[in-house]
Amino acid sequence: MVDVKGDVAPSAVTMDKIVELCKRRGFVFQSGEIYGGIGSTWDYGPLGVELKRNIRDAWWQDNVRMRDDVVGLEAAIITNPRVWEASGHVAGFTDPMVDCKECKQRFRADHVEGDVCPACGGQLTEARQFNMMFKTHMGPVEDSAAVAYLRPETAQGMFVNFKNVQQATRKKLPFGIAQIGKSFRNEITPGNFIFRTREFEQAEIEFFVMPGTDEEWHKRWIQDRYNWYIKYGITPERLRLRPHDPDELAFYSKATTDIEYLFPIGWSELEGIANRTDYDLKKHMEFSGENLTYFDEATGDSIVPYVIEPAGGIDRSLLAFLIDAYEEEVIDKGDGKKDKRTVLHLHKTLAPVKVAVLPLLRNRPEIVETAKNLAAELRPHMATMYDDTASIGRLYRRQDEIGTLWCITVDVQTVEEDNQVTIRDRDTMEQIRVPISDVKSILIEKLNS
Ligand code: ATP
Repeated sequence: MVDVKGDVAPSAVTMDKIVELCKRRGFVFQSGEIYGGIGSTWDYGPLGVELKRNIRDAWWQDNVRMRDDVVGLEAAIITNPRVWEASGHVAGFTDPMVDCKECKQRFRADHVEGDVCPACGGQLTEARQFNMMFKTHMGPVEDSAAVAYLRPETAQGMFVNFKNVQQATRKKLPFGIAQIGKSFRNEITPGNFIFRTREFEQAEIEFFVMPGTDEEWHKRWIQDRYNWYIKYGITPERLRLRPHDPDELAFYSKATTDIEYLFPIGWSELEGIANRTDYDLKKHMEFSGENLTYFDEATGDSIVPYVIEPAGGIDRSLLAFLIDAYEEEVIDKGDGKKDKRTVLHLHKTLAPVKVAVLPLLRNRPEIVETAKNLAAELRPHMATMYDDTASIGRLYRRQDEIGTLWCITVDVQTVEEDNQVTIRDRDTMEQIRVPISDVKSILIEKLNS
């Protein structure tokens, strides 16, 4: 097992700085901002969608495409409400909630200490249970018979499709079903930017195993998922594993370990890996009357598989990747003067823009044309940006701040003398001069190495 880490200070960046950068550069905007926004709801801007897509793709690549024992699924957000009765969500997907009698703010009872309001010091009410599922109505009649729910997790879509997937793919145990998609929870206290929102994206795997092998598979998945965050650049010292105490385990869980990240708000869950046993399949068998057992050819027995569930959040990991990548560097300008640059050291697979092509002089048509042609040549192979809206120093700063891996500068020498350009590395700021005809293969090689 990996070591439990956690002896390091959080990244120096504050949440306010991340929020400001995200808005200014087009990663994340407040949703409905021109109308004053709506509680803890965010829209992803041009760079945010690219980053999010890259995180999803990396997750899918590693957890589905690279494995012979995991297949994908995309289940509906609104499904038969009986699913949520069987899963226990209708009766029990609740958080204890307390209200302040003075300022009327609402808190999760397990997020406050004692019965004093953390906002104003007023008296809090007794805790009441609050169901976090969003309700809606299917069809034209808004009566109770037409009630449906927005899914609060993607997991159940995979349990109810267990038989379909197993029969269609002929997979033998152990095998998993993976899904990325939106989930909705009417959180009592959302907040901390995209850390906790009411609409969010989950990336979950239900990995079905033979009973008796579950503990071993649980360990393997904890290790795998921990390594995944490190592979994409999270500082290992800011990651730790936290096994749940027996009294905090969810009712379906035999054991759960959270992967926690040291956010600016302190250690908080990034992903949970639970041993859900045969709880869910058995519940769906009971409620649907369908046989969801697995026929084990080796023994001739029909068994109900156990399930290991790694459950992470795309938005929450995007926040962690941004925070971990953020750095304000003091750099030597060479003439004894110091300068500051903000840089996102995002992993090359995640960086929303891989390369920016920058003409040194935007009033020299040959330079502009050469730069635009080079950008067009690179575009089919990697996310490419062309920018000529400022001086080169400023353009570099702007690209550093969004994590662009390389800046290519086309200058007078390129068009008048040598047909060569400079490639500047984001992290080292080193520049190399190479023939323009080699740029594409050099960058493809760097991306794939
Ligand atoms: P928490 O204790 O933070 O409420 P949870 O244990 O209820 O989370 P799970 O049901 O295990 O969360 O969901 C799996 C993952 O989905 C979480 O680790 C997190 O990354 C993400 N997630 C859950 N709720 C939210 C939310 N409201 N906003 C953003 N991401 C979320």
